[in-house]
Amino acid sequence: MTRPARAVLHASALRHNLDRVRAAVPHSRVMAVVKADGYGHGLAETVAALAAADAFAVASVEEGLRVRAAGATGPVVVLEGPFAADDLALARRERLDLVVHSPEQLQLLEQAGPGRGIGVWIKLDTGMHRLGFEPEAAAAVHRRLDRCPAVTAIGWLSHLACADTADAGPTRAQLETFHGALGGLPGPRSLANSAAVLRHPATHLDWVRPGIMLYGVSPFPDSTGPELGLQPAMGLHTRLIAVHRLPQGAAVGYGGAWVCPEPMPVGVAAIGYGDGYPRHAPSGTPVLVGDRPAALVGRVSMDMICLDLRQAPAARVGDEVTLWGGALPVEVLARHAGTIGYELLCSVTARVAREKA
Ligand SMILES: *Cc1c(COP(=O)(O)O)cnc(C)c1O
Repeated sequence: MTRPARAVLHASALRHNLDRVRAAVPHSRVMAVVKADGYGHGLAETVAALAAADAFAVASVEEGLRVRAAGATGPVVVLEGPFAADDLALARRERLDLVVHSPEQLQLLEQAGPGRGIGVWIKLDTGMHRLGFEPEAAAAVHRRLDRCPAVTAIGWLSHLACADTADAGPTRAQLETFHGALGGLPGPRSLANSAAVLRHPATHLDWVRPGIMLYGVSPFPDSTGPELGLQPAMGLHTRLIAVHRLPQGAAVGYGGAWVCPEPMPVGVAAIGYGDGYPRHAPSGTPVLVGDRPAALVGRVSMDMICLDLRQAPAARVGDEVTLWGGALPVEVLARHAGTIGYELLCSVTARVAREKA
């Protein structure tokens, strides 16, 4: 196997970023969010690197089983809770804690027979209007779960819709709604995602749930991870497989969508949308060739992209190409491609080789 496209995982960056979270939340415990294969970084490697977290959080019971298989012995929280009764049985067997966000899930727990106890987190909808019980239902839901023989511990969580935006108003309102709904009800509380860890200390409460910042990527649209003291945990790299000297007027790639404005070197790098490089990245999107800046030209193909090498005139076949990582944060590519770092990290496909730094 010699295809040069590869994603390089920096485990030391994950550990550094967890320390950065700890420094920001000295009074809260940390639930490291590792859903979607550790945001595309590889679940087992991510769980191993973040072993010092107080808990892990995943989207589904399937993902929770994989966290256990990776060797995690502490709490594992399933953020969307059980999808059906068999999820409940698996969660009990593997000691996964379940979020309960709906009347259907509440019924599943009420119907569970005796057996190993299960920890639950009641999810309230404090304003995002995606998942969760109405705040007014908090006490009643708590009463019903408290009566379930299967339930041993109950916590509270909610999710913030706007913690990454400049306007703090919606976050403040959600926090107030959360406090108002819970009053003196017992149990640990959790509200903060990465953006709130960094910008909204009042939301830190008992447990924070950072995801993206652990991977060294900014949750905010106007900054990068390194600017926030984070270290990017993934680099996406490949190599040049051809370099051409094209004349003025030569059209490059599918549709001839980009035309050389002058005689110039154009490189071909072995990576494309079949690897998770975004097809919508436009001409001009920055790339590094070695440590020289280069720019995408023409349409992204499935397996290849073409590069303007005018600023890297000495570039040769075999030279390293960085799509993101190092001096090129994934947030920069995301901005050019009209998406967010989260999506790019999760989109790296299975055919891309994984390497440890
Ligand atoms: C994904 C997720 C998080 C983590 O969000 P980031 O923005 O990546 O920090 C936290 N809580 C819930 C419920 C989530 O689904």
